Formats: sequence, structure tokens, C-alpha cells
Amino acid sequence: MSKEEKRYEGDELNPLENMMSQLRNAREHIDITDDIFERLRYPDRVAEFNIPVRMDDESVESFTAYRCQHDDALGPYKGGIRYHGNVSRDEVTALAGWMTWKNAVVGLPFGGAKGGVVCNPKEMSDREVEGLTRRYTKAMRSLIGPDKDIPAPDVNTGPQTMAWIMDTYSIHHDYTIPGVVTGKPVELGGSKGRSTATGTGVSMLADSVADYYGKSIYDATVAVQGFGNAGSVAARLLDEKGANVVAVNDSAGGIHDPDGLDIADVERHKAETGQVTEYGGATAIDNDELLTLDVDILIPAALENAIDASLADDVKADYVLEAANGPTTDKANSILVERGVRILPDILANAGGVIVSYLEWVQNTQRYSWSEEKVHEKLDDRMTESFGRVMEAHESIDTDCVRTAAYTVALERVAKAHDTRGLYP
Ligand code: NAD
Repeated sequence: MSKEEKRYEGDELNPLENMMSQLRNAREHIDITDDIFERLRYPDRVAEFNIPVRMDDESVESFTAYRCQHDDALGPYKGGIRYHGNVSRDEVTALAGWMTWKNAVVGLPFGGAKGGVVCNPKEMSDREVEGLTRRYTKAMRSLIGPDKDIPAPDVNTGPQTMAWIMDTYSIHHDYTIPGVVTGKPVELGGSKGRSTATGTGVSMLADSVADYYGKSIYDATVAVQGFGNAGSVAARLLDEKGANVVAVNDSAGGIHDPDGLDIADVERHKAETGQVTEYGGATAIDNDELLTLDVDILIPAALENAIDASLADDVKADYVLEAANGPTTDKANSILVERGVRILPDILANAGGVIVSYLEWVQNTQRYSWSEEKVHEKLDDRMTESFGRVMEAHESIDTDCVRTAAYTVALERVAKAHDTRGLYP
């Protein structure tokens, strides 16, 4: 049975169950009231839309779409939009919750949200994807806005998708409103450094982790699952720092070279052929094999549930840096922690994307633009500070699990905001 078929077979693979269980684990270590925890157990709202789209053959197809707004105690809702066949209400809700905790752990003035459309954009023309995006934007029009809820790219969406959202939203408001989305093309008010921010943040975190544990990135062996936006940039930057990236894959398959891959060249190959497979000089490797390679650092950068309980005993990496959201199930997490594997959780490891999204939003609000160097400096500062705060919590509470420590930092911030704001009426 494939991972996709197993996806919702049991609770272990339900991302929402996993997100809630991570929250409950953290709650055991901090003092928050039942009343506030009760409020955090549910998303503020989950909107479901039917999106009719005129296809190229003139037929009309209906797509199911969602926008989940999880919590806005700390500021406007913020979170990406995913186009994928596996999008579901539970997945969108879990991803929105992870955004609440991620924004809180890195100290951003945002709450959490996420959107998704059940579709396969790879089988659609650009015109069809544009039609879908514009109609979805129209459906979300009253929910989103620069001070309400700010979407961004996620799996299978990117700067062009954000440009269509910004344009449609602006047309409906009769003036141009760049701050309604982040991850836009730079010429439309996107931030320099946003398209590479998630992978850059992962590589910055790898430096902090190496320093903290007295290791060196130079010559560390690395395997990356998912050679997309987050994974390819993380792989290239780690390769440039001197790490030995020995394996990468995408949905079509993987490649392995124990002597290290030339990642810039693999990127060129992927740009030309659309996939990493058949890259000259490397051997083919299947998905589970990549995840269980004997490497120092494993970076899951594809989708949820990559590492489940059936695989966790075979993972040989010393460190797992979660570039994807929810790549390790809760059961797998317990097994890995028990075995001494150090997992740097998604809400911290992949926060680079939303940190630079925040910087983009600030630049849009001020009608100002920072250099890429400035953006990197600010990203580095926030990643380093946030890692420090999580490791302080890790040292001060009785847990071997860095994820639980990160959640305590996030949960305390969100709970405090709720407590101080009070419950209306
Ligand atoms: P993307 O679409 O650019 O890349 C995803 C990659 O994963 C693709 O190369 C795809 O082929 C591959 N993939 C899918 N299923 C796979 C499988 N079973 N095995 C191996 N590879 C597989 O998406 P992205 O934006 O890089 O997002 C990847 C992950 O990172 C997601 O979990 C996303 O939520 C998370 N993330 C992304 C950002 C961002 O700024 N893009 C920010 C934070 C978190």
C-alpha cells in the first residue's frame, strides 16, 4: 500500500490528530488554564468553497477549496495556499494550526491560517490554474486582507499564483493592495530573498544546531526528501557550506551518490527535465531508502507523514531537520526521540518562509524595499534567536523532545495573548 493510500487509514496519519497531540504533549509542561486550552483546541473557522472553473475543452469542472483561520490572538491570520490532490479539511486545519504555533515560536505578530484546493495543477494548463486561482480569491475575498488574513505560497503554488491573487483582490477593491499576499514576484512588491527563504532558514538552523551540539556542517552527510522550493534551496546552501548532500528525491524518484551530489548541477537537470531522476553519475534510490540512509542530517522537505511509525526504527540519521510541515507522525516522533535522534521541528525549522513573508508585509505596509543582504541579516537574527529560545526551554523542562520545547514557547505566547485580551463579551 502506498503512503498516499495509507494516508488516512488510521489516526497516526491524520495530520490534525498529530498537531493536537503535539499540543497536548507541550501542555503537560506549562501552566495554562483549561479555559484557554479549550479555546485553542479548535480553529476559529474553516470555510469550504465550491470553485467552478471553465476548462480548456470548454467543460466546467468543480473544485473543492478551503481556507482555515486557526487563531488570531497575536495578529492577522497568516498562512500558505496549497494545490494538491490530497488536500482535505483536516489537513488544512492541521496546517493552519502549525502556522499559529510557528508564528508564535519565532515571535511574529501573526496568527495561523492555511488554504488549499483539491486539484492536480500538473495536469492543468496555466490558463486553467489562473481561472481556479482567481475564482478561489473571489470566494475568499471577505476573509482575506492585509490586516485580516495574508496568504502565501505552499506546495504547487508560487509567485505567479500570488500575483493572480493580489490582482483579483485589488480589482475587487478598485485599487492595488500588495500586502494582501506575500511571496509575490519582486516587481509587484515581493521581498528580495522570499523565494529562497524557507531553504535558507533551514540551512541557517543547520549552522545553529551544529554549533549547539559541537559538530561541523563541513563534511556532514545530508539526504533531502523533496527537491522543491524548500528542499532544493536547503540542499544547495548546505552543499555550498561544504556538507556532502548524498541523496535527493522528488515525487518521481530519487538519486544517490555516496561521494556527494553537485546540487547546482542537479538543479539545472531538474529545471531541464522536470525531475531529479536519471541525473548522470548517481544511482536511483526509492523514497523509503532515502529516508533510512545512514546520514548525519535528514531533511524531509516534501509532505506530511513521510516518517511514520513503520519507518522510524530504520531511520539512521542523527538529526532530522523538518523543512516540510508535519513530516514526522507523533508515533514516529516518540520512537525517534527514544532512540536519541534529534528532531528540529517544522514550526522552527521551516519558519524562514514566514519570517521573510513578515518582512515582505512590513515592506509593503511601509512602501519600502530592503536589499537581499538586509533581508538575510534579519532572517538570520530571528532564526538564531528563536533557536536559542527553544533550546533554553528544552534545557529547562523535563523533555528530550525539542518539538515539545518549541511548542511550550509557542503555546505560552498564544495563551498569554488570549489571557490578556480576555474573552468577549
Ligand atoms: P514544492 O511543491 O516546491 O516541493 C515539494 C517537492 O516534494 C516536489 O519536488 C515534489 O515532487 C516532492 N514530493 C512530493 N511527494 C514526494 C514524495 N513522496 N517523496 C519525495 N518527494 C516528494 O513545495 P515546497 O513549497 O517546497 O513545500 C514543501 C514542504 O515545505 C511542504 O510541507 C510545505 O508545507 C513546507 N513549507 C514550504 C514553505 C515555502 O515557503 N515554500 C514554507 C514552510 C514550509
